[in-house]
Amino acid sequence: MIVSRNRDLLNMGIQDFIISSEKVAHVQSMNNAEHALLVLTRTGYSAIPVLDMKYRLQGLLSMKMITESILGLEHIEFDKLSTIKVEDIMDTNVAVLKNTDTFQRALELVINNAFLCVVDEDNMFVGILTRRVVLKQLKKYVYST
Ligand code: AMP
Repeated sequence: MIVSRNRDLLNMGIQDFIISSEKVAHVQSMNNAEHALLVLTRTGYSAIPVLDMKYRLQGLLSMKMITESILGLEHIEFDKLSTIKVEDIMDTNVAVLKNTDTFQRALELVINNAFLCVVDEDNMFVGILTRRVVLKQLKKYVYST
């Protein structure tokens, strides 16, 4: 009985748990690092998705990537911020979910990622799935079995 309920959860689609793109803070690959720093600081998130002009996912940008890009030998070179492009410092090697993926795949990937970007079949950005949301669903299932 418990085994079959677990299967139900693992085979469930992720669609209902996605935070949709309109609610997700992001930067564009052509933005400069100064703008990105403002977005990250204002939203309070440590990392956000990077999209191109057509809303296709390009990578992730974190505060650490910005800080490292302006780290001089003895000083932080704040003047450089406006000359650095997001696309030159973002991480392009990111784990991604398809909107048709199962909860099982999401569960495996959130172990090492606080959130995952979700794309459709054309690589258009659909939204994100956070570890918090995945754990909430898991908790619901564990407590009700
Ligand atoms: P949370 O589980 O809500 O703490 O979110 C984990 C991480 O997901 C945050 O640190 C952000 O990097 C990212 N995140 C969550 N919600 C948003 C959002 N609305 N816009 C952009 N990034 C988000």
